[in-house]
Amino acid sequence: MAEQVPIREGTFKEDKTGAILLANRCKACGQIFFPKSKFCLSCVHKEMEEIELSQRGILYSYTIGHMPSSHFKPPYAIGYIDLPEKVRIYAPLVMTADQSFQVGMEMVAVIDKLWEEDDKEIIGYKFKPVDNAS
Ligand SMILES: [Zn+2]
Repeated sequence: MAEQVPIREGTFKEDKTGAILLANRCKACGQIFFPKSKFCLSCVHKEMEEIELSQRGILYSYTIGHMPSSHFKPPYAIGYIDLPEKVRIYAPLVMTADQSFQVGMEMVAVIDKLWEEDDKEIIGYKFKPVDNAS
C-alpha cells in the first residue's frame, strides 16, 4: 500500500466516528478559523485554541468542473459547506453516479484520497451527501 500523506498537517483527523476537521478559535472574541490561523484575523489576538468542527453541514453552493485541473479529472465537484460553528468550508465533493447535489442538502465530511504523487497518496477531506438510507 502506498504511503498516505495528509495534504496539510493538523487540518483534519479521523476516528471511529468519521472525519473531523480541526479549526481554531480566538480566545478573546470567539471567532473560528478553518484552516487554522496563527492569530485572530478579526481582533488580532494571538491566543488561539484548537477545536473540532462538526462532521455535518449544509451545502451552500457547489460547482461541477468540466475542465481538467492539475489534480482532478473532470467532471469533479467543489462546494461550500456551512457548518453549525458558522464556518464555511471550501472542499471537494464526492461524486457518485446516482447522487446529484442540491443546495441545502446535508453533507458529511470524509477523509479520502485526493490524488497520487510519485508513490504517495495525498489524502484530505471531502464532503459527501448524507445517505439517509443508512
Ligand atoms: Zn479574536
